[in-house]
Amino acid sequence: MSSSKKVGIITGAANGIGRAVAIRLASRGVCVVLVDIDEEHLIEVADEICSIGGECVRIVGDVSEAETSARAVAAGSSLGSIRYLFNNAGIETVATIENLELVDFRRTLEVNLDGYFLMSKACIPYMKKFLCGVIVNNSSDAGLRGMRKSIAYGPSKAGVIQFTKALCLDLAGHNIRVNCICPGVIKTALCDRFNDDLGKLAGIEGSEAQANFVEKHVPLKRWGTPEEVAELVEFLFAEQSSYINGAIIPIDGGLTAGI
Ligand code: NAD
Repeated sequence: MSSSKKVGIITGAANGIGRAVAIRLASRGVCVVLVDIDEEHLIEVADEICSIGGECVRIVGDVSEAETSARAVAAGSSLGSIRYLFNNAGIETVATIENLELVDFRRTLEVNLDGYFLMSKACIPYMKKFLCGVIVNNSSDAGLRGMRKSIAYGPSKAGVIQFTKALCLDLAGHNIRVNCICPGVIKTALCDRFNDDLGKLAGIEGSEAQANFVEKHVPLKRWGTPEEVAELVEFLFAEQSSYINGAIIPIDGGLTAGI
């Protein structure tokens, strides 16, 4: 083991935003631990990282189970020192209270919130050991304000914001920074599924629902890309952001700026 190597753990690394962050960090020389439940796409991301000369390890597992985080930190600490954690794996649930069962409500919280808790809890002893670490939590515009048909997703993402603030206050004395990003409409499979579900409820195609939403609510009148989000996450991990701590940062083209 080389303790000088910087290691980053990225959950939800097989697709979308997590994938873009993993590739970006790996291209900057960070050894990345890729965590996801989707093995097929995780292999593709790992292959891509190898093809650019990066170093990574794959952990297939469910972030809502403690054994997944245990395997991730065991792999990460054997590669080097765990410096970065991107809590990102998440699921969308488009539902009102009348069409959601408790089991699905709980599942949304389990993945979107328990998953962040478990992975942070597993990483923190390693970060404390080196008196150095940065955690970035991925929330959502849905965590910043109320959203219709978001009875489970919204609370899970609002929880991520308060989780970030509490963690930041508890860890600052150990030189561990904790920040939160709140993406708006970012073109990923999750975003497409979200809009397909919204479209179904409105009797239109998902792509139409998405285009209508962007036109009406996003001041920049376009969606964002996973790579744009990865730029922000990389900055939050870097020394250039050394005084940013406990921040809740929208990356949404102005979506949540106001009406
Ligand atoms: P995505 O569906 O492309 O990627 C999410 C990844 O998480 C997938 O690879 C999936 O397999 C993984 N995952 C889901 N459940 C898991 C579990 N239980 N254990 C391990 N891995 C699991 O979606 P994305 O858009 O890249 O979303 C990433 C994060 O960004 C999510 O937390 C999402 O809520 C947040 N977000 C996305 C948008 C957007 O518009 N795309 C907006 C706001 C917030």
